[in-house]
Amino acid sequence: MSPGFIFTMSLRARLTLLYASLILGILLVFGSVVYWLVSIVLINHIDEQLHATVSDIVNVTRVDLIGGDLSVIRFPALEMTSNVHVQIWGRNGKLMTTSPSIAVYTEPLDPENLQSPIPVYHETYFEGVHLRVLNVPLIVEGRSIATLQAGASLSLVDTAQEVLLIILGIAIVIAVLLAAIGSWLTVGRALAPLDSITETTEQINRADDLARRIPYNGPAKRDEIGNLIGVFNQTLERLEILFSAQQRFMADVSHELRTPLTVIKGNVDLMRKMKSLDEESLTSIDQEAGRMTRLVGGLLLLAQAESGSESLSMKPVALDTLLLEVFQEMNVLAGERVKLRLSEIDQVQINGDRDRLKQMLLNLVGNAIQYTPKGGEVFLSLSTISEQARLIIRDTGPGIAPEDLPHIFERFYRAEKSRTRDTSTGFGLGLSIAHWIVEKHNGHIEVESEEGQGSTFCIWLPLDEKVIIPVTTD
Ligand code: ADP
Repeated sequence: MSPGFIFTMSLRARLTLLYASLILGILLVFGSVVYWLVSIVLINHIDEQLHATVSDIVNVTRVDLIGGDLSVIRFPALEMTSNVHVQIWGRNGKLMTTSPSIAVYTEPLDPENLQSPIPVYHETYFEGVHLRVLNVPLIVEGRSIATLQAGASLSLVDTAQEVLLIILGIAIVIAVLLAAIGSWLTVGRALAPLDSITETTEQINRADDLARRIPYNGPAKRDEIGNLIGVFNQTLERLEILFSAQQRFMADVSHELRTPLTVIKGNVDLMRKMKSLDEESLTSIDQEAGRMTRLVGGLLLLAQAESGSESLSMKPVALDTLLLEVFQEMNVLAGERVKLRLSEIDQVQINGDRDRLKQMLLNLVGNAIQYTPKGGEVFLSLSTISEQARLIIRDTGPGIAPEDLPHIFERFYRAEKSRTRDTSTGFGLGLSIAHWIVEKHNGHIEVESEEGQGSTFCIWLPLDEKVIIPVTTD
């Protein structure tokens, strides 16, 4: 099997193969150790038998010495009750005596070790029989006079080893098969959710339907696959929200651009028909072009804010001076229709982008003036509370309906009543921009409103340097 083939297999097959190979490896090592230990025990048993027999023979062997010379050796009768066969060979290579069981044979049991000067155990074949032979030199007065060869058949050991090999082989094959089947089923079960992830992803791709979610049928306490499904579903949810927000955004932008373009086109067509420049039409075109410029400017700012490319130039800003500036500019806009009041102003300095902070204040004060009906009032105040600057813009206008309140900071969101107003008003971008500017200054914006009772926007900004000199203007 080439390594490349393994990579073309499914993950399930690969894991099964890995698991089965691991089990096979472990069992082979285990089987070899068992086989080796059993063989050692059996051979030891045979060796002990040979050793006992040889000891018995040597103990009863008599040697007669006449005048210091070897004359007669008297061996005991080599009638063995066990399966041990004995031969005694003289140094001259003559068979001196043999046990009756092998009396017909004149060949040494172990020719290789016939002259061995030390006792040696050796395995050999004698007349086709597998034997374990103990060779012992018989030494008299320092002289080796003969070699005793005691051999025992190893057929029982061989049979035991063969049977053991067959049993181990069958056990290993069965164990590896069971392990492979078990791991195939377990891995299949564990990987089944991945199939459903793939299937759902394919359905999403085919149908462009981000509303689909991957079903999770696992245990209550999520495992790794459960976590993956959870994270994947969260990603889908986020993508769905982003995608629908983008679609809504496109629809909103197209809608907002269509009105001024229709007005411009209508006026151009009219002037073409009249074959003269009409002052009223030109003013209308100019207004609509200005409106589109404001819209595109707002969108550009929000797009840059979202992409993070719009950076603020932070410098110490005297908020009180800035608020006074906004107050004076907006007082002109409020005119006689709405009374703009500066109720409290502390001297407060923060670290911020002056232009963006002014834009935020103009948006909020502009809204307050715009939505407050004739004869109403708008109050501005600046104070320092718990190490923070607090700006308040309060009006006595119509207020914001509770169902609109959570959405007013969204792009293009305009409360129901505001949508029907004439086209010279905003696009629903002012509060989104104000919100982004405040957040960029590490502050936050709060709104309280009750229908018919007016609205209060409260902006909290962290202080740079605290200088408070209470001044109250009314
Ligand atoms: P717009 O350009 O429509 O004013 P904004 O983002 O500034 O957009 O405001 C979003 C919506 O919040 C407005 O359409 C209006 O319905 C509501 N709103 C904002 N300020 C006030 C206010 N001071 N009083 C009543 N409604 C307000």
